[in-house]
Amino acid sequence: MKKIVLTISSISLLLIISITVNTLRFTSRQPQVAAIDGIEIDINRAVKTLSSAVQLATVSHQEMSHSQEQPFSSLIELISNRYPLVKQNLEKTVINQKSLLFKWPGTNTALKPITFLAHTDVVPVEESTLDQWQYPPFSGAVEEGFIWGRGTLDDKSTVFGVLEAIEQLIVLGFVPSRTVYLAFGHDEEIGGAQGAVHIAAYMEQHNISSLFTLDEGMAILNEELSPAGKTTAIIGIAEKGYVTFKLTARAESGHSSMPAHPSAIGILARAITTLEENQLPAKLAGTAEKTFDFIGPEMGLFEKILFANRWLFDEAIVSALLKKTSTAAVIRSTTAVTIIEGGFKENVIPSKASAIVNFRILPGQSSTDIKNHVIETINDPAITLDFMTNNTPNEPSTLSSTDNPAFLTIGKTAQQIFPGAIFAPGLVLAGTDSIHYQNVADNNYRFAPYVLGPNDLGRIHGINERIGIEDYRRMILFYAQLIINMDE
Ligand SMILES: [Zn+2]
Repeated sequence: MKKIVLTISSISLLLIISITVNTLRFTSRQPQVAAIDGIEIDINRAVKTLSSAVQLATVSHQEMSHSQEQPFSSLIELISNRYPLVKQNLEKTVINQKSLLFKWPGTNTALKPITFLAHTDVVPVEESTLDQWQYPPFSGAVEEGFIWGRGTLDDKSTVFGVLEAIEQLIVLGFVPSRTVYLAFGHDEEIGGAQGAVHIAAYMEQHNISSLFTLDEGMAILNEELSPAGKTTAIIGIAEKGYVTFKLTARAESGHSSMPAHPSAIGILARAITTLEENQLPAKLAGTAEKTFDFIGPEMGLFEKILFANRWLFDEAIVSALLKKTSTAAVIRSTTAVTIIEGGFKENVIPSKASAIVNFRILPGQSSTDIKNHVIETINDPAITLDFMTNNTPNEPSTLSSTDNPAFLTIGKTAQQIFPGAIFAPGLVLAGTDSIHYQNVADNNYRFAPYVLGPNDLGRIHGINERIGIEDYRRMILFYAQLIINMDE
């Protein structure tokens, strides 16, 4: 008995020592970088230009034929008119009529270029929400310290923030040694097939390979939104894929007075329930694991102990992350039933019923893995499975590196411009143009340097989209500083 007690207490002691050592070794990955003022900026010009840009309704409609040409050509003109030094010093190529590629030649061609990605199109505004906008969505109103309207966050502040930074750097006499490209697609909101795909193809044909591309995707979460409880720049290093299946159940049709079982609707309902109850496995791996490598050491002691000892607490962490839809989506491929159809008359049993199920695929898995999961999970020959015909699957991206100087420089620049901020890699749940640039860059990062709080998330693609003038100023500062930092 004495021996057992002794063994148990020595095991516990070893466990405590191991947990403590792991926690102590789980140290911060944040370089100690001091905040700086950044370059001087003509904020009045910047605000006016972004406001003018918002007034051009460069809307992408799912039906391409509904998108108008005029606003896009006006936007290209606006860029020419407002940035005379960019016009003089950068080479401009118009691709597929509406997309733009700028090259700011560096003096040292031995250095690999960097490429800033952004898109000039915006999503439409829902007619029925117009009266809920504080200022009309295409007014570009400058009120209450904000610039208001569709595109102020997604993504015209990036397009014009980068241009503004470069115009100002040229004013200040800065000549880059590393070549800088700006690639602005015009149809990101409907997949980028006419814009980003063509720009990337052009770059590939011309053997332009970048050290990295920097696109929208993630942002800076304020202390309320960040899991670390402090301002956190999340730099997207991967994005999820997308696939939609149509499930069709077939069974005998007939009069409802003499029903046969199971009905098509019954078969379909069972399949849907089975899919929802048997989700794809959740795991703290890949991007999510990297996120906590960076954020974990900055968290409170309790969380720090958990994330430092994943070998022991993995299950507890995963089940905690699964409790919130936003964190659950980061650790598994998600299943969402979005449309259901079946039946047409109350007293007729239909011969078929169908459902549309949308999956967002975690990097490392493929649309084929998802298809196999669906077939095995439902396991019912009465159900057929088709890819949605108008939606080819988007495979998830590869993972970009977090241990190279470029990634650290992006993080360090965020710390310089946003005092007190930490940075971490993250997974983008939606799609971006970056997916098309995987062959023309070593790494694809997805980070727009604006600060978001809990009330801001719904403004992107939603109502009352806006950006604070001070937030926009910092965006411009960030881009300018990143160009400077990457030059050193
Ligand atoms: Zn966007």
